[in-house]
Amino acid sequence: MINKNEEYIVEIIDNGIDGEGIAKIDGYTLFVDGAIKGEKIKVLVVKANKTYGYGKILEIIEKSPDRVEPICPQYKRCGGCVLQHMSYEAQMRYKEEKVKKTLNKFLGDYSYQFNSIIGMGIPYNYRNKAQYPCQNGKIGFYSPRTHDVIENDYCYIQDEEADKLAKRSFELLMQFGNECYDETNASGNIRHIMVRIGKNTGEMMLVIITNKEELLGTEEMIDTLKNEFANLKSIVQNINSKSTNIIMGQKCITLYGEDYIVDTLGEYNFKISPLSFYQVNPVQTEALYYTAIEMADLKGDETAFDLYCGIGTISSFLSSKCKKVYGVEIVPEAIEDAKENAQLNNISNIDFRCGAAEELIPKMYEEENISADVVFVDPPRKGCDVELLNTIIKMKPKKMVYISCNVATLGRDIKYLVDNGFELKEVQPVDQFPQTAHVESIAVLERR
Ligand code: SAH
Repeated sequence: MINKNEEYIVEIIDNGIDGEGIAKIDGYTLFVDGAIKGEKIKVLVVKANKTYGYGKILEIIEKSPDRVEPICPQYKRCGGCVLQHMSYEAQMRYKEEKVKKTLNKFLGDYSYQFNSIIGMGIPYNYRNKAQYPCQNGKIGFYSPRTHDVIENDYCYIQDEEADKLAKRSFELLMQFGNECYDETNASGNIRHIMVRIGKNTGEMMLVIITNKEELLGTEEMIDTLKNEFANLKSIVQNINSKSTNIIMGQKCITLYGEDYIVDTLGEYNFKISPLSFYQVNPVQTEALYYTAIEMADLKGDETAFDLYCGIGTISSFLSSKCKKVYGVEIVPEAIEDAKENAQLNNISNIDFRCGAAEELIPKMYEEENISADVVFVDPPRKGCDVELLNTIIKMKPKKMVYISCNVATLGRDIKYLVDNGFELKEVQPVDQFPQTAHVESIAVLERR
């Protein structure tokens, strides 16, 4: 029996999907944040369930050669960069292992080509989107497993200018008498501050997410910010009056400038609106897109689907490599961006449609007889809906390129496809999120 407040000396036998160290004490599983496979650790049990519990590092008795000093002083209090105590090489090895292990769990000893991860040259300050909760006069991050905001001067994975703008705008909002939202009684107003920067253009958008429409000192804030941040192209207020963990509401009011910013990826320009999804690490995104398209080995005469297409980035990259592209996306604002982006880039062979892929694709296939030679999917963390997979299975495309930010649902969906006429050929991990335990993967499947 393992109890809270007991101390043990344990061997870390593995790292789990969130980077956590895993130890066994007579069959009992103990999760130890910040511990690395191979280390011997003195732990304090901080939470004990029946068959598993959580331990805190008291002392590292035998250090892993992969251990480095975390660069961020907030490393221990913030749940963001959970791998900062591992060298970047070790982080990459961990991610390759994570992808392999998870896929093998679903596929058994199925054989396919596994490529080493595409890492990032400088794995810091890569994010183009800073999104911070505000609470009780503070802006920062939630401490792990809570909604308590901890202030932070500098974030090592964030764009520096975006980070500065987020904090400066918050300071002004407080100065002009606005109050932070209090989720315990739904009072107050400022909920989150979000800043997006086009890493290749420098253009910045500030989004102030509020509980109510009322906002104090707007004019003064705009005057100050536009003087201090020359590349500030857009200030938008987004209103979210719901009691929810979803950050943004549906209503946007443009307070200053345009209601979008522009960024470039590859040879294309992309307009990005506040409610549209845009990949957070543009350097790695280019690598991701080029690699995925290369892996598809297109001849030029294909019809391709880009499902979960966002603002049409993959569609645009695909447009010059095939005859016709259909892009499908559920967020209306994103599809509007996608259509404008195609025009902006002089692309005329993409047909963008708004709706849920699992509803639209069966309809397009059954009612309009539209099918694809190559299907690209890039779903959110929950993966593809089985209705969509069933239609793809019926449609029998030659190839499928599955881009995924969650290897667990990737494994589940690949297993379903493999059981239904597809063969998994190749998997390529890409490090879109250095210092975190997240990993992006590209999987190529072919019809058997
Ligand atoms: N391929 C794009 C976006 C990927 S993120 C890019 O690389 O930028 C996943 C996208 O799927 C988001 O834009 C989200 O709005 C959209 N989405 C979520 N559920 C969906 C569904 N059921 N059908 C279609 N799109 C969906």
